[in-house]
Amino acid sequence: MAENPDFLSPVTSFERGKLLGQRGLVVWMTGLSGAGKTTIAVQVERKLISAGRLAYRLDGDDLRSGINAGLGFSQADRMENIRRAAWIARILHDAGIITLACFISPEEPMRALARRLVPNGAFLEVYVRASLETCIQRDPKGNYQKAIKGQLAGYTGLSPDQSYQEPTKPDLLLNTELNNSQTCAEILFAMIINKINEPAR
Ligand code: ADP
Repeated sequence: MAENPDFLSPVTSFERGKLLGQRGLVVWMTGLSGAGKTTIAVQVERKLISAGRLAYRLDGDDLRSGINAGLGFSQADRMENIRRAAWIARILHDAGIITLACFISPEEPMRALARRLVPNGAFLEVYVRASLETCIQRDPKGNYQKAIKGQLAGYTGLSPDQSYQEPTKPDLLLNTELNNSQTCAEILFAMIINKINEPAR
């Protein structure tokens, strides 16, 4: 019996997008630990779902306790951590999902790698900004105190060989010292909705 040609061609990202009524988007949130990436992403994810948009939050801590559990904090492992995260974000993009990727990703090449993996226009770099002093004061996970006491080596921002390179041209800068998390979430949500309503790429 002849094969039905309709079933031989792989489903495209465009077709999945049509099914979901949206296009995939990678929102790459970078910033120091404690800057507010997760706090904002949780709220934006909730807003997107409430608005009928399929969203997924990818978090550095979750990945490190799961798929990336074998990785440490050497330079090579940090890069590998981001490489895997960026590929997961790409797969979610291909599935038509709006991904909120929360990773310190302190170096420009890490962020560039994530951007390269998705088509032009499907990536937003969001710099979630707070000064190191503010992040040390907030210290939501107690990691800065541990690092200051010498119980945690090579902590980003504190250790002289682990500085945070600020993005020079982020698509959006959220200053979490000037705006509360709800305002930041509203700004980012509005930007995402604008982006996904742009004419098809
Ligand atoms: P990150 O994911 O960047 O490591 P978290 O979201 O885990 O940061 O922690 C940020 C901490 O800062 C939380 O305790 C949060 O309540 C607090 N915070 C204070 N102001 C803000 C703000 N404007 N935006 C986000 N978080 C804020």
